[in-house]
Amino acid sequence: MSINENLEKLSNACGITGRENEVKDLMIQLLKPHADEIQEDKMGNVIAIKKGNDKAPKIMLAAHMDEVGLMVKTITKDGFLQFSKMGGIDDRILPAQKVAVYTKKGIYSGIIGSKPPHIQKEEERKKIITYDDLFIDAGAENKEDAANMGIAIGDPVAFDIKYVKLCKDVVIGKAFDNRAGCIIMVEALRLLKETECTICAVGTVQEEVGLRGAATAAFGVDPDLAIALDVTIAGDVPGVREFDTTVKMGKGPALTISDSGLITHPKVLRWLIETAEEEKIPFQIESGLLGSTDAARISMTRQGIPSGNISIATRYIHSPVGMLSLKDIENSAKLTSAAIQKATKYF
Ligand SMILES: [Zn+2]
Repeated sequence: MSINENLEKLSNACGITGRENEVKDLMIQLLKPHADEIQEDKMGNVIAIKKGNDKAPKIMLAAHMDEVGLMVKTITKDGFLQFSKMGGIDDRILPAQKVAVYTKKGIYSGIIGSKPPHIQKEEERKKIITYDDLFIDAGAENKEDAANMGIAIGDPVAFDIKYVKLCKDVVIGKAFDNRAGCIIMVEALRLLKETECTICAVGTVQEEVGLRGAATAAFGVDPDLAIALDVTIAGDVPGVREFDTTVKMGKGPALTISDSGLITHPKVLRWLIETAEEEKIPFQIESGLLGSTDAARISMTRQGIPSGNISIATRYIHSPVGMLSLKDIENSAKLTSAAIQKATKYF
């Protein structure tokens, strides 16, 4: 299976934060051929272990499996579903979105509705409609009908967007944050030749609500160093200043100097930059970014774990549809596996 085919499967799967099962099953399938052992911890993190020599460093790779989305919060007597947001979602992108409600009796399509603009007052029209004034209309006639359909409070709701390959190596789809990281992790293990290091490739849960899975996974794995594989904001669309971010889609993996949760350990940064230079893999540097990744939490585990990020510059993250370059995925996987190969020189 190619990166394109596997990313399509991962992107179309549902993994709303805290409800990552579908993605987890796919990740187990994809990681299994490249691992000696697969474990799952009590929190739900998937850990693929490739055993090495006890004297060489133990490296943790982390890619979060969850995605931002919605969860059914209340069902009105008329059968409309009110919802809470799972992870950081901008209310402005919600109205009129097509969504998929995952219930015990199957998946239902629905639409996010609001009071029709025609009957909104002048001042109402100028305001952003916040999520608590919106609702999902799945066609249920009333509360009983919704219950008969199998819809229940707590059901996860995902944006209903299917993966599409556009021109050249550019693709669009749902949940690239962070199925992009998931596929880099799988591909990096596939490319990996014999290594002295023990690799723990972890698909983490609940990143979008505070890096929670990474906390328990890092404690359990107890690695010597770690790399989080994730997406970052591409600064190559109109309206973004160079000051805000310099990384661009298609220009190679982004290496973080600092974000709001992590200052990359200098040794880790040198290791990743020198590997990219020696292997002639294009890369970009980003610094001072708002937001953080699993690496922030991993780096604070136990007595501290030297950690860094390899990220994909992705357009429109945390919206229903993202855009990225498959070349960046390929180069990030190459960089990850080449870095592992050289790790004993640095650590
Ligand atoms: Zn992410």
